[in-house]
Amino acid sequence: MSNPDRKPVRVVVLGGGTAGWMSAAGLAGLLGPLVEVTLVESEDIGIVGVGEATLPHIRGYVERLGIDEAAFMQATHATYKLGIDFRDFGRIGESYVHPFGTFGEEVAGVPFHHYWLEMQRQGRADEIGSYSLAVTAALENKFRPPTTDASLTSTYGYAYQFDATLFGPFLREHARKLGVARIEGKVVEVKQDGESGDVTALVLENGQQIAGDLFVDCSGFRALMIGGTLEEEWEDWSQWLPCDRAAAMPCEHVREEIHPYTTAIAMPAGWRWRIPLQHRIGNGYVFSSSFLSEDEACAVIAGAAEGTRLADPRVLRFRAGRRRASWNRNVIAVGLSSGFLEPLESTSIYLAQMAVTYLLELFPEGGRIDPRDRDEFNRLVDMEYDRVRDFLILHYHATTRDDSEFWNHVRTMRVPDSLQEKMTLWRETGRVEKYSDGLFYDASWIAVYLGQGLLPECHDPRTRLPDPDRIARALGSLQQAIRDETAAMPGHRDFLMSRAERLAAAP
Ligand SMILES: Cc1cc2nc3c(=O)[nH]c(=O)nc-3n(C[C@H](O)[C@H](O)[C@H](O)COP(=O)(O)OP(=O)(O)OC[C@H]3O[C@@H](n4cnc5c(N)ncnc54)[C@H](O)[C@@H]3O)c2cc1C
Repeated sequence: MSNPDRKPVRVVVLGGGTAGWMSAAGLAGLLGPLVEVTLVESEDIGIVGVGEATLPHIRGYVERLGIDEAAFMQATHATYKLGIDFRDFGRIGESYVHPFGTFGEEVAGVPFHHYWLEMQRQGRADEIGSYSLAVTAALENKFRPPTTDASLTSTYGYAYQFDATLFGPFLREHARKLGVARIEGKVVEVKQDGESGDVTALVLENGQQIAGDLFVDCSGFRALMIGGTLEEEWEDWSQWLPCDRAAAMPCEHVREEIHPYTTAIAMPAGWRWRIPLQHRIGNGYVFSSSFLSEDEACAVIAGAAEGTRLADPRVLRFRAGRRRASWNRNVIAVGLSSGFLEPLESTSIYLAQMAVTYLLELFPEGGRIDPRDRDEFNRLVDMEYDRVRDFLILHYHATTRDDSEFWNHVRTMRVPDSLQEKMTLWRETGRVEKYSDGLFYDASWIAVYLGQGLLPECHDPRTRLPDPDRIARALGSLQQAIRDETAAMPGHRDFLMSRAERLAAAP
């Protein structure tokens, strides 16, 4: 790298989808004078832009960049999201919510769910969801932002469901104010240094060359630099996650309420999403082309629309997996060019955000890349992908469904050892594997294990107190407190509208 220490590092971002603008705004906003960011995008090629539902971490991104939440939500027609309602996954007719929140509290060092398991064994517990404020509020269509104290009202978080086609443009305006230069044009060639193999410049159709020190590949499934130029290998995970298509279609709202959650409905060859935004509902059928044709999937999703269709079904094709290394030479892949995991747990934008976060932490000051930083980046990104992969597989594998070839396949397939170990630990002890980095902590695993019908054989013996009535009373009080709190919350739609009115009235 030729960049002397004090000059800003010239970062070139290829791609103006969600990942591209998140990267550009994140780098420019949080590294300031250390970088000079240029983003290249081609309107002819366009972005993926379906969905989108997110995870609570996105609030950290929005906050760190000093973006006003209400203005961002208004611009992207966003709604609040308290979790995902999974239907028919463990068994047809059953459902559960994976909440952005906890179930009860640890008592005397024993996690709540062990007491619940003991009470359940004695036939004295209700569904685990009734001990979660996030689940209860979601199902009642209520919303209020959580508090930051240690009370019941701080036991949940929230994310957004927004119009992905509006998120990029919103960030673009923000990034421009931060000094990001935008170049419209199609990249037709990637120039490399003859000796090091580092990328030196992108060449556009009109011959313009954009030189840089560091290149962020956000070119989506095309993966122009990481996959094309550098030929970084793709690790294919379709043996565990066979869904490789989605038929997506928006429709109008027909109901009065707007759910503060995403719905995922298991289908004979995959699952179907329903994402309520302020102005419409996003629908999509994620399916495996080995078990269903594109035409059939389009017909299903068109038939499932609740209100008038706002567009014809659009089919997107993908493959589950990730790059063996997302950072190779001086190219860092973020977003779909780095990997793809179906949106069952709304993780793609999170994965892009984490890649940007890790890049910020390990940023090569002065443009000189330390291979140890690159390795650490790749280790962290791999870990994030692997954790999400295991969690997604659990939704398919832990099922009793045997009503279609697809479900028979995923129910009986051999899963990765890392997931097998987690499931065995849960089944034998009721414990959730502990880790401090990466996505999905205990409450998420508990929600999905129990929701999918995977009850442990044992639980913590310390829950067998001489006075089980005490535990039963504690569980009852918690449920009552949750019911009272939910009753006091405004409706989700009312809360959204009151924020929009406040924003409109602001000088
Ligand atoms: C069916 C489906 C549903 C999804 N749902 C969710 C969800 O609910 N939640 C979630 O978090 N994620 C979801 N995702 C993932 C999410 O859409 C992506 O992670 C996100 O949009 C980021 O995409 P991207 O920016 O990497 O790529 P893209 O949106 O594809 O952007 C690629 C960019 O690269 C540019 N480009 C490409 N080639 C060139 C070239 N040669 N020259 C110049 N520019 C070029 C394009 O113009 C474009 O600007 C979903 C994905 C799919 C497929």
